[in-house]
Amino acid sequence: MTEILVLVEHVDGEVKKVTLELLTLARSLGEPSAVWAGPGYTPEAKARLAEYGAEKIYVAGAAEIADYVVAPKAELLAQLVAAASPAAVLIASTAEGKEIAGRLAIKTDSGVITDAVGVGDGVTADQSIFGGGVNVKSRVTRGTPIVAVRPNSTPPQPSAGAGAEEQVTVTLSDAARGAKVVDRVKQEKGARPELTEAAIVVSGGRGVGSAENFALIEKLADSLGAAVGASRAATDAQWYPHQFQVGQTGKTVSPQLYIAVGISGAIQHRAGMQTAKTIMAINKDPEAPIFELADFGVVGDLFQVVPQLTEEIEKRK
Ligand code: FAD
Repeated sequence: MTEILVLVEHVDGEVKKVTLELLTLARSLGEPSAVWAGPGYTPEAKARLAEYGAEKIYVAGAAEIADYVVAPKAELLAQLVAAASPAAVLIASTAEGKEIAGRLAIKTDSGVITDAVGVGDGVTADQSIFGGGVNVKSRVTRGTPIVAVRPNSTPPQPSAGAGAEEQVTVTLSDAARGAKVVDRVKQEKGARPELTEAAIVVSGGRGVGSAENFALIEKLADSLGAAVGASRAATDAQWYPHQFQVGQTGKTVSPQLYIAVGISGAIQHRAGMQTAKTIMAINKDPEAPIFELADFGVVGDLFQVVPQLTEEIEKRK
């Protein structure tokens, strides 16, 4: 069976959900081989990768890989592509992932597709463009297909793989040492789940009216153990930090439940949340486009609805 390389995203030794999604996709294309780049590999990480179908795990644990910006990971993958001749390479379509994909494409003289939302037979990639208005199918016609897939595009499904470990030594070029990481500052992590990985997301929009009023959204989110998101109107107004923006130019989320509060449902916002399993909207305008997408809707003033909803949830806990 053909080998499919999957670059592992990991933080503090923990495998990120997007990697489990990529392994799930890779299983439909061939035999997944996970590629671990940098330090932090643990028996728990190995078990997790095998649980989601990694037949092989290439471990390149050299600290040097994480000491330089992006380039070493592309060199590692290029080395593995030359040695293993995989049928495809799957990478998370994050800012870093897309850069790695581009560099790898140059190194291997291959075609690259980014922002895919699915990959099917013959490594045909699906892309959803113009805010989800047009779906495109593309296939790489030269070299090894390199596909960067957006997080939350596929539900991760476990299916045991052998998880056979192979240690890899990468020889970095001088060019790969061009930009060194000189410091790392760990972002304060709140009690809330990470936006792109949360099962429930509560987002606020222009209707929320001010930064102070976002406390209402946070309270509702906390009552549900949810992450907080925001529309671009809210982040542009600096009511909530940009890193929480959901949409075409923000994060893509695909939770079990998405609650849109005071958000009209512009196409660019939908692009980041329309794959949520259940969508609930709270909006005072019954004609707001978000209701076309919503499974449940409350037409009403959020300043009345949200506190009542939060109180009711707290009561029932
Ligand atoms: P509005 O469209 O102004 O809607 C506010 C809603 O709140 C209205 O429906 C109103 O009825 C309701 N409301 C007001 N008061 C209350 C109340 N008291 N109670 C209940 N409801 C109330 N947008 C994104 O979100 N994410 C993106 O990534 C993104 N990328 C973009 C990229 C490009 C290239 C462009 C051109 C635009 C992008 N936008 C994005 C912006 C997008 O087009 C919309 O302008 C934005 O999503 C609107 O945000 P909103 O729904 O919060 O505000």
